Amino acid sequence: MRPLDLTEKDPSKRVTIYFEGRPLEAYEGEKVTVALLANGVYWLTTSTGGRKRGAFTFGPVPMVVNGVKNVNARKTAVKDGMRLERQGYGDFQERVEIDEGKPVLQYVVDVAIIGAGPAGLGVVKEIGGRLTTAIIEERGWLGGDLKLKGVEQEGFGDPSEALKELSDLPENTRVFLKSVAIGVFDKGEYFLVPIVRGDQLIEILAKRVVLATGAVDNIMLFENNDYPGVFRRSDALEVMNVWGVAPGKKVAVVGAFPEELTAELDRWGIEYVVVPNPKRVEGNEKVERLIDANGNVYEVDAVIVSDGRRPDINPVTQAGGRLYFKRGYYRPVLDSNHRIREGIYVAGSAVSIKPHYANYLEGRLVGAYILREFGFDAEPCVYEERLKNYEPIAVPVHRLPLDEFNGEDVQICGCDVTLRKVDDVVKSGITDLQIIKRLTHLAMGFCQGRFCLFNGAVVVSQRTGTPMDKLDIPVARPPLKNIRMKVPARR
Ligand code: ATP
Repeated sequence: MRPLDLTEKDPSKRVTIYFEGRPLEAYEGEKVTVALLANGVYWLTTSTGGRKRGAFTFGPVPMVVNGVKNVNARKTAVKDGMRLERQGYGDFQERVEIDEGKPVLQYVVDVAIIGAGPAGLGVVKEIGGRLTTAIIEERGWLGGDLKLKGVEQEGFGDPSEALKELSDLPENTRVFLKSVAIGVFDKGEYFLVPIVRGDQLIEILAKRVVLATGAVDNIMLFENNDYPGVFRRSDALEVMNVWGVAPGKKVAVVGAFPEELTAELDRWGIEYVVVPNPKRVEGNEKVERLIDANGNVYEVDAVIVSDGRRPDINPVTQAGGRLYFKRGYYRPVLDSNHRIREGIYVAGSAVSIKPHYANYLEGRLVGAYILREFGFDAEPCVYEERLKNYEPIAVPVHRLPLDEFNGEDVQICGCDVTLRKVDDVVKSGITDLQIIKRLTHLAMGFCQGRFCLFNGAVVVSQRTGTPMDKLDIPVARPPLKNIRMKVPARR
């Protein structure tokens, strides 16, 4: 077994890959980043500002694969003999290459559902084949965040058993995996949902759209929070529970919701320490120690940020929805039918933070509203009642020790935007997030603000004393996720 393997892998799938010329064991089907982690390789790329980066904190991981630059290692599977080399972010400039490409595919359906987590699958289940549906999922699997869990979940029990049942989809359902929906647009009596799968552009025309796009991990601010070996909550869960690889031999768990991770670490028998107030990560090529605000030093080889999630507001604002602030996060303003406007529904943790099962119920609720709109018998009130048992979870907004941190070492955004850069602009009196975006490039890079904008808002709120609910949050523009521009450019 490789140093960080948690499970035996199938020997018939064993292959050899070369990282910077060094032969390493890997298994067919594994993601490059996971295979490297299993071998104890954390530092994969270097930011424009010269900062070492791993695969599990911010953004894409551009690497040189078989001599080809700019391959996103997060989305690439290993192949026997593959040669991998580190590459700087600065080289991540795509050459403009508009080619003939594949012809655009078009489908017309009654309902397009973006996101195949418990909420999206709940919508499809409720509709039960009575309408034609397309479900669009960026990841390579159905189940969203639930798929990342190993321990029992309230309402669902064993997550893998629950997923078997949820993934049994009715006829009339078209499933698009590894497919990114880049926005929702009005097109006559339809909505146009363009999706990109690899180099293929697919246009879905739908009478109704459901945003079941889930929530985004909270990024915690501390010094060197972008260092190789710092893991986002969902990436740590994925490496353990989907790929059977440990984030490290001894890890520190930080953030307001450590128990979500410690339950999983216990399951795998991984040693950990919970550190409530992280200040700084240090190490040579990867995390070697974590120092807290009281000066305590913890010798660890990985840090997992388990600070909860907040609804992904980008799909909502892009599609024309408005937001309000409650329980520590921005969330969509919905009408009594769970719509941001006529024809566009929202379900699941895109609405509010609650257990997976409640998100599933909310998917069913939205499915029932849609069925009723199309003239079918449906009973949304059953789900409305059951959902009353689930009060949305409050997510704490941390007070940032702005004057105690070395802001130069704190990455507010993975695109080399430091906390100091944003803070200096705010301190100079510029407090409009639109202008801060333009001056600092916060929320203008790979994540389109999904991970970084909230912390930008916290800095403004803290420095100016303006409550979070009074801040003007910029509207997201398409494409919602990173895609190669040559794909939509063919249109
Ligand atoms: P829960 O949060 O309880 O798991 P949920 O269904 O509300 O329930 P997720 O499980 O996070 O939320 O599922 C949302 C899914 O939406 C994720 O799997 C994510 O990959 C997918 N997704 C988000 N945005 C897009 C997009 N633009 N295109 C395709 N898929 C997307």
